[in-house]
Amino acid sequence: MKVSIDLDKCAGHARCFATSPELFEIDDGGYALNAEISVPEEDEAVARDAVAACPERAIETH
Ligand code: SF4
Repeated sequence: MKVSIDLDKCAGHARCFATSPELFEIDDGGYALNAEISVPEEDEAVARDAVAACPERAIETH
């Protein structure tokens, strides 16, 4: 699975990082840094949690 983040939609809530600090990197302002993340099989459930946690709906899995 891959996660895409629309960095233009990201508003710096850092909720993705709070859901999984292993998958998501953020800058000092709380904005996501990576537009494309490869998700290991064991982290797929937490990746879906991050999709649900993003208030801007900026994260998609595919
Ligand atoms: S939760 Fe959404 S808005 Fe917040 S930092 Fe992550 S991608 Fe950006």
